Amino acid sequence: MDRLFYFGSNFKMHQTAAESAAFLRAVAHAANSNHQLFLIPPFTSLTALTPIKGDIWIGAQTMHEAEEGAYTGEISARMLSALGVDLVMLGHAERRQHFGETDAALRRKVRRALDHGLRVLLCVGETALEHECGASAETVVRQLKIALRDATTADLPRLLIAYEPVWSIGVGGTPAPMPDVIYAVGAVRGALRALFGAAGDLIPVFYGGSVDADNVGGYVQIEGINGAFVGRAAWTPEGFLNVFNRASTAKG
Ligand code: PEP
Repeated sequence: MDRLFYFGSNFKMHQTAAESAAFLRAVAHAANSNHQLFLIPPFTSLTALTPIKGDIWIGAQTMHEAEEGAYTGEISARMLSALGVDLVMLGHAERRQHFGETDAALRRKVRRALDHGLRVLLCVGETALEHECGASAETVVRQLKIALRDATTADLPRLLIAYEPVWSIGVGGTPAPMPDVIYAVGAVRGALRALFGAAGDLIPVFYGGSVDADNVGGYVQIEGINGAFVGRAAWTPEGFLNVFNRASTAKG
């Protein structure tokens, strides 16, 4: 199992380029070799952040599956790669819900991103209905098996997974109870093993969903979890550092 601890935030549709750069400068001192920090700002902030990122990974929030073409408003893997971004997040629940991102499209996006040398942070998680009906494991296994269908063991060093129950993320979300996270992360780990054998254990898995300074310590100590992925509670440098410090202390 990869012992490195990961901590990062998706800014969603918040922060201008100048605000994102100020944010990065304010948290940069927390980066060191015991953990990997990452920030996933809007596209418009990427060029401001990549030249000053130091050891912090900078990620894009999505990309189009095609190499190029008549897709007005979209961004390609080649464009992201040329900007020097470290990763692309794919399959965030808001992309699946509001922009119709399907498992089949994610399969193509994952392959495209990997072909351009990008790390992929693949988000998986069940909806409230799937959770209520006891289908959490089935959902995350399906999402992983389809999206990672064309990934090979050679791609493993560039794969990262965020388990984010849809009912837990964003405004109105509630922190997932520990037993639910343990169960779903067990299913994620099982799917990664089914796909890649024992090498699948090396893929870092994060928990995301209403993480804050008070609950992060519990989540990051769950077996099979290698990091925390935080939205609202980490949208100020102070909040980011506060949650990060609590996570780091809990990890020891
Ligand atoms: C998210 O939406 O990916 C997320 C983790 O958000 P929050 O922490 O605000 O629930």
